[in-house]
Amino acid sequence: MQKSKGEENMAEYANIIVDISHEKLDKTFQYRIPERLKPVLEVGMLVLIPFGKRNMQGYVIELTDRPEYEVDKIKEITGIAEKGVAIESQMIALAAWMRKNYGGTMNHALKTVLPVREKKKKLEQKTVRLALHPVEAKNQLAEYERKHSVARARLLEALLAEGELDQNVITQKLNVTSAVIRAMEEAGVVKIIREQKYRNPVEHLDQRGYDKILNDEQRQVVSEIIGDYDGGIRTTYLLKGVTGSGKTEVYMELISHVLGQGRQAIVLIPEIALTYQTVMRFYNRFGDRVSIMNSRLSPGERYDQCLRAKNGEIDIMIGPRSALFTPFPDLGLIIIDEEHETSYKSETVPKYHARETAIRRAEMAGASVVLGSATPSVDSYYKAQKGEYRLLELKHRVQEKPLPACEVIDLREELRQGNRSILSECLTEQMEDRLRRRQQTILFINRRGLAGFVSCRACGHVIKCPHCDVSLSQHDNGKMICHYCGYEEPSPKACPVCGSKYISGFKAGTQKIEQVVKQRFPQARVLRMDMDTTRSKEGHEQILSAFANQEADILIGTQMIVKGHDFPNVTLVGVLAADMSLHVSDFHGPERTFQLLTQAAGRAGRGELPGSVVIQTYTPEHYSILAAKQQDYEKFYEQEIEYRKMLHYPPVSNLLLILCASKEEQCAFDAAALLAAQIEGNEKCEREKILPIGPADAAIAKISDVYKKVLYVKAENYQILVDIKDGLEDFMRDDRRFSNVTVQFDFNPADGF
Ligand code: ADP
Ligand code: ZN
Ligand code: ZN
Repeated sequence: MQKSKGEENMAEYANIIVDISHEKLDKTFQYRIPERLKPVLEVGMLVLIPFGKRNMQGYVIELTDRPEYEVDKIKEITGIAEKGVAIESQMIALAAWMRKNYGGTMNHALKTVLPVREKKKKLEQKTVRLALHPVEAKNQLAEYERKHSVARARLLEALLAEGELDQNVITQKLNVTSAVIRAMEEAGVVKIIREQKYRNPVEHLDQRGYDKILNDEQRQVVSEIIGDYDGGIRTTYLLKGVTGSGKTEVYMELISHVLGQGRQAIVLIPEIALTYQTVMRFYNRFGDRVSIMNSRLSPGERYDQCLRAKNGEIDIMIGPRSALFTPFPDLGLIIIDEEHETSYKSETVPKYHARETAIRRAEMAGASVVLGSATPSVDSYYKAQKGEYRLLELKHRVQEKPLPACEVIDLREELRQGNRSILSECLTEQMEDRLRRRQQTILFINRRGLAGFVSCRACGHVIKCPHCDVSLSQHDNGKMICHYCGYEEPSPKACPVCGSKYISGFKAGTQKIEQVVKQRFPQARVLRMDMDTTRSKEGHEQILSAFANQEADILIGTQMIVKGHDFPNVTLVGVLAADMSLHVSDFHGPERTFQLLTQAAGRAGRGELPGSVVIQTYTPEHYSILAAKQQDYEKFYEQEIEYRKMLHYPPVSNLLLILCASKEEQCAFDAAALLAAQIEGNEKCEREKILPIGPADAAIAKISDVYKKVLYVKAENYQILVDIKDGLEDFMRDDRRFSNVTVQFDFNPADGF
């Protein structure tokens, strides 16, 4: 994906920044590259430059042939600095690679990669202390519990045990917001003590020590990777291990080895799975050499964490996507857990994928990468099959707990039997049974699609685009539209296959399900978890811990509930409409469905009691549903990869999405059409028979009055897509026809764009 050295180095000019602090990143200065430096100069190098009357140092962030000032006013670089700060150089080079491979400006890329320095704000340490006598505090606790003030009760309970706690520990670990803490201060329950200090978010935890001995399977995996590592081999591993097979223990063993050699490690975990339990496991083993990064840290706190990493005060950083850019001076290992998660793809420019970027960073640092998942992404498994990654497997659950029994219910048959409810007979019976036995049930609706697909409730037929094989989306104007190519047709009055009139846009929300469940089981205690009930920061953890404490019998939710938590008393998982994620207007439908169903099934029977799973669907014969029922990844993969091959979808081919956004619909469309014409007229594209697809409306065609049009290009060779992007960027530069339009590139987009 990268240009070879020689090619890049013959540029005339270098763009340079003199200070890597956030405010000044925009300020680049251009210098001429003297002949003698042309063959050696690279992006990221620290160079000497004349600056006004002084001599200064600056980092090269771009090499270019395009002068930005009058040519004879551009000064020359004096030389390369003796010793550049290696890690900064590496991060700038990584930013350049990201810009190249994912589009956007160098400034976007630098802002993603380099930590934000805040100018004045000093770090303030806030300690929260109990202000009441313990007896009074216990009365207060009872009062909170009576009022169901769950967050307050949780904090008070923790303070009763600890006396005082760092405010950050409270907000991050206990998930109690600072607003709640302030309210409790005003009520005289707690006192906040403010000091200025520089701190670690995981201090104040109790380290319990480490006591596990790896089993044979785990040891086998660890010794393969360590064998390579000590033999000087650095590569990418795909660790495919069923849920509960002990992947996290494997990660920790590997980290321990790397740390033993004086190097550092980064662990990426999707934010939704970054729970207190996960952090504690690392903390128990590695103590305060561990730090975490998450979206709740302020930019200043993030900067602080980066400084500590750079200064060697910590060795392990755990966090979501952005933790990948922790400036460890001698990075030895990058772990990406749940590597199939779509949150590893950035939604903002540059739209990088953390997996590919991690592999690039590891190459630069001489580190290895371990990707872990129970349901690897089709992309990664394909690469493992081709030998690009090394496949390692954990096939057994640690405690040999059986996987739950799984039943698939045909909703078409239910309709034929006269049951028009969202709950099948079978599921209803099992729910009754669990209520009687005081065991818990999770009802899961995998809501992933943006607009409703159109399906027949009598025969399960789904209306698809004749050109792209993705579901058409229903629009209010009585039409159905393809979000890839723009094809449209009127919504049908009857099913084209069976003639039934039960054909319509598929809609079922969590709220509706809650109503139905409450009606059917008036005695049950029901919790609902979705975007509405988790809007507040603590909502998510609050609902999960209430359910874990068995304060409810039934939890209804979206994909949010399938991660991160263990509920030992859950013995039934019902998937209400597996089709929801199958027929999204995106080719990832079957993959997401298989992953979600497998992960949802993994929620049942994690405790002593065996579990069962009921999957309700209109398309029980679909391979992703059959494979999920059997928990058979290979079977799913074989069919899926055939489908991708047939339609030239990634990972077999590559896909570039070009998004044109404007307040004027016509401008957005014209821009997309201009770019399409540009691609059509490109000689290389013509030779390779590469054609643009579209323009079409984006899946959400208009967001807050901004219209979005999309254009696709498919090519087997990624580099061709990068060249197309470069060509279009050149074409658009200083062209007034694009002045009202924002154009973004997205390589191999994740779903839901
Ligand atoms: P995964 O990440 O594959 O889902 P975990 O690493 O979370 O699996 O392990 C599942 C459970 O088994 C955890 O509670 C973990 O502590 C436990 N476990 C894992 N490996 C061992 C081991 N070798 N000995 C004892 N318990 C283990
Ligand atoms: Zn189409
Ligand atoms: Zn039909």
